Amino acid sequence: MCWFDKNGRDFPWRRSSTSNYQAITSEVLLQRTRAETVATFFPRFIREFPSWRRLSSANIRHLEQYLKPIGLWRRRANSILALAQEMSRRNGRFPKDREGIESLPGIGQYIANAVLLFCHHLPQPLLDINMARVLERVFGPRKLADIRYDPYLQHLALKIVRCKTPVQINWAILDLAATTCLGRKPRCNNCPLVSMCQWKD
Ligand code: SF4
Repeated sequence: MCWFDKNGRDFPWRRSSTSNYQAITSEVLLQRTRAETVATFFPRFIREFPSWRRLSSANIRHLEQYLKPIGLWRRRANSILALAQEMSRRNGRFPKDREGIESLPGIGQYIANAVLLFCHHLPQPLLDINMARVLERVFGPRKLADIRYDPYLQHLALKIVRCKTPVQINWAILDLAATTCLGRKPRCNNCPLVSMCQWKD
């Protein structure tokens, strides 16, 4: 955890004051968009749409324009609006179990994990292609192409985040992927995992 304390990235959705609404909307916006891009936009988004209720009553065209700076605006606007409408009906409460969470509009495995992690405080991995890259380099390659169904990666990621600070360990791996274990040229000389890593150039 020392590496994260010194090198972790600071984002508006990582504050102690971050609400469940902010944590989950940020994760929805982060999908397929660089965190730095979302970071410049997120405070404005939260000022304009401070709650599920306010977001649920947004005009779809207005929302699309609003989401334009981070790309994929049509798809994102539709899915986040549908989720907001459902969450507004539910008074902001997510279902307790994975099956119920995944039945909400626009929620797949990754966002369901985020809900379990941030809202229900259960250790779940934010396993995306970036986290997968670090885990595969350190521990060995996955068996299946699709991360969501690869039992090896899923079990490995779950095992790693089953600790006292699951949120921080998730963020630490994601930050290591973004700053050190880069896709093309990993900076192994600066990596805290170099002594245990299996990856060779
Ligand atoms: S040692 Fe290199 S390849 Fe292994 S996790 Fe660190 S940066 Fe990635």
